[in-house]
Amino acid sequence: MPASYPEVKRFVDAWFCDPDFPDRFRARPTDALHDLGVDLDPTELARLVSPEDFGILTDPTREDGVAEAGGIVADWRRYARERHQSVKTERDQRTPGCPALANWRWRQITRLKFELAPSLGDQIRHIPFAMELTRGCSGRCWFCGVSAQPLDGIFDRSPENVVLFRGLLQHLVSIYGRSAALDGILYWATDPLDHPDYESFVEDFAEIVGGAPATVTALGGRKPERAASVLATLSRHPARSHRFSVLSVRDYRTLISWFDASELALVEMLPQFRKDLRLKFAAGRARTRMKAKGTSEGEVRPGGTIACLSGVMVDFVGRTIRLVTPCPSSDSRPDGVHESAKIPFESLEDAIAVIDRLLDEIRIPLPEEGAMLSRSQGVRFADSPDSSAMRVVSDHHAIRLGSPISGDRLETKLPTSGTIDSIVETLVGELDLEPLEAVSLLRRLLDAGAIRAGLPGEGAMPVQIGVPDTGSDQEMTPPKEPG
Ligand code: SF4
Repeated sequence: MPASYPEVKRFVDAWFCDPDFPDRFRARPTDALHDLGVDLDPTELARLVSPEDFGILTDPTREDGVAEAGGIVADWRRYARERHQSVKTERDQRTPGCPALANWRWRQITRLKFELAPSLGDQIRHIPFAMELTRGCSGRCWFCGVSAQPLDGIFDRSPENVVLFRGLLQHLVSIYGRSAALDGILYWATDPLDHPDYESFVEDFAEIVGGAPATVTALGGRKPERAASVLATLSRHPARSHRFSVLSVRDYRTLISWFDASELALVEMLPQFRKDLRLKFAAGRARTRMKAKGTSEGEVRPGGTIACLSGVMVDFVGRTIRLVTPCPSSDSRPDGVHESAKIPFESLEDAIAVIDRLLDEIRIPLPEEGAMLSRSQGVRFADSPDSSAMRVVSDHHAIRLGSPISGDRLETKLPTSGTIDSIVETLVGELDLEPLEAVSLLRRLLDAGAIRAGLPGEGAMPVQIGVPDTGSDQEMTPPKEPG
């Protein structure tokens, strides 16, 4: 990290989070920087917010802008760009140790290349697991992308719960490997600051996994003491960057009065109150509000997601486990996730068995009879100049894929969803493929992300999967519709 980065970042954060700061800086730059605790050359910083360079503040990967090499602005830009690009690199490095799970995760990554714009899809890490230590969230943010319900339960640090937490974490590390497990997190539709002992769980995590879990909170401005305590704990261990979602200007000012530039150097500040900076898509409650108001002013808000998990979700308070993977939000998936059924567990042994059985289902490269397949959102098949291939295209991505039949024929005949048996029947009966050719084509379409297999128990259809201490199979609970 360049030595000047923390202070340049503090300046950039002020520019976005404090609506009064730009005018103060233009009028009295030295005083404005002094108030911020920044001791850098105002002339150089002014370059960063000049009309020529301003675009790189929101997208450091842009090629335009005239920042000079060697100055603090160029240093900031280079480091910000490295951090932006590291998401993709780390995503590739932190792949599950189990090849079958790595393949399933890869299928989700390739699917989202078709379904989401690269600026969004490339930033999704596809982390292996998330563990909720509370049920619901006290934030009640109107924009909540995961539709968090009100806070109504805490997984306390009783000796039994600590054994359960640590045992499950150790099991997940044994499945995914330490490198991938470092991407695991301890929240989902919850906020870490709601848990009075979050720091102790972070210490457990660091001891077992080898680093602290990346932590995102929107409550830092309301609970600065808790934020300081959590940040101090996190800073004792290697970790990815953390994030404060900033709910108001007042919250921003509280945060910078508590933390100096170096303490916030690796904490992304996201001003959720700035309408002009909000993501140009919506999921969860933001989507609900957007729909209620209508898309005024001709705004284009394609389906999006804030979900970063392709893997196991553990709800310790409700004692359920499910699989989750991101997708563009829609009326049927308002939170922008596909979810398996939620499976209840009672004990550590139950939980381990549930995880193993869920993961066994997605380890299979071709789903079993009766499983649902569906075309990835926006995917179309088209002819390729090469007669042994077809083109798979969407608004965001296009590939050439070897195929024994033409893309146009497949586009016409392949249903957008159906059981694997019915789709094989179509490929054999209507498109004249040999059964083995049909199966081979389906595998390639799955690997390419052009189609996806439903998660176990996804949708309203219950499936049979046992929880071990019942002694017999039982029905999984169909997932609650999000929102
Ligand atoms: S955005 Fe975060 S803090 Fe706000 S309600 Fe959702 S989970 Fe809670």
